[in-house]
Amino acid sequence: MSKPVLSLIQSDLPEKWQQILSDLISEPKELLDILGLDGTDKPASLAAIDSFPMKIPRPFAMRMERGNWHDPLLLQVWPAREEETSIPDLVTDPLQESRFNPVPGLLHKYHGRVLLTAVPHCAIHCRYCFRRHFDYAANTPGKPGWQAALDYIRADGSIEEIILSGGDPLAASDKYLDWLLAELEAIPHVDSIRFHTRLPVVVPQRITPSLRRILQRDRLRTSIVVHCNHAHELDNEVGRALSTLAADGHTLLNQSVLLRNINDNPASLLALSRRLFSCHVLPYYLHLPDRVAGTSHFLVCEEEGCRLIAELEDLLPGYLVPRLVREEPGAAHKTRIL
Ligand SMILES: *Cc1c(COP(=O)(O)O)cnc(C)c1O
Ligand code: SF4
Repeated sequence: MSKPVLSLIQSDLPEKWQQILSDLISEPKELLDILGLDGTDKPASLAAIDSFPMKIPRPFAMRMERGNWHDPLLLQVWPAREEETSIPDLVTDPLQESRFNPVPGLLHKYHGRVLLTAVPHCAIHCRYCFRRHFDYAANTPGKPGWQAALDYIRADGSIEEIILSGGDPLAASDKYLDWLLAELEAIPHVDSIRFHTRLPVVVPQRITPSLRRILQRDRLRTSIVVHCNHAHELDNEVGRALSTLAADGHTLLNQSVLLRNINDNPASLLALSRRLFSCHVLPYYLHLPDRVAGTSHFLVCEEEGCRLIAELEDLLPGYLVPRLVREEPGAAHKTRIL
């Protein structure tokens, strides 16, 4: 008799992934203590945190190597002093995305697909992020505000694929995602949904039975593009979460950013491709970093990128070699470099 009552109470409690997202590491000192590092060696920039706060989920920090300032996961999230370096041609909106933003929350740059900035926040703050200066407040309308974007999609029969991005679309609640997916599924010419998300990698606990049910749609094909830059991000728990999504029938792809001192060497990229494949994920894009203010210390030049891809081609089957791309404002697609 008491069972239904108990399950009612339990369903009101935040789930594990929600607890993780409400307890992110946001202070450099706390991360340094966990990693046994001395902050005087490489001080955090308060100005950097001020403009783009530190946010690190604990499961991600647990994959960092203790005592190692060069850890490739740490370098992705550490608010380094170099962020204060200003270089004249680094700008806040390098892709001129505001030009392709016909209604709030929707970017229409490429034929046949639109991108919705479905959620205003991420589970992690990656210091190289090209959207770090994006005005999310103005571009995540919330339920009532989505009508303009839905009307825009309904009115353009050429739009077949909807890309849910962010922020991170899987940072949304199950209820909100289910609502948005149902609205999109009701538009006859939309036949596929793509998620661009870092959550399955940084907080694999997000892949719950309830989310898995919501991602199973009657009519829509679904693909999930995760975002992972280094093999160390993919521990066993992440591997299990990704394999579950693959078993549910979603197409899994990965996009990475080529980052100075993090993955700009053949061994790291090789290990990443192999590890992705063992998690049922194929490499898709390797982005040259966009020229965003505050990220100059991550930049890798085009020639270096080409050299690395050529080395990968010598060592891997073609399907494990990502496409090296850069985004150019106004181009009809991402620009393939190699
Ligand atoms: C990257 C991107 C896409 C997706 O491009 P694909 O080549 O299909 O992966 C779509 N819309 C916008 C605005 C993008 O930035
Ligand atoms: S998860 Fe993606 S959008 Fe969010 S901070 Fe990282 S790179 Fe930027």
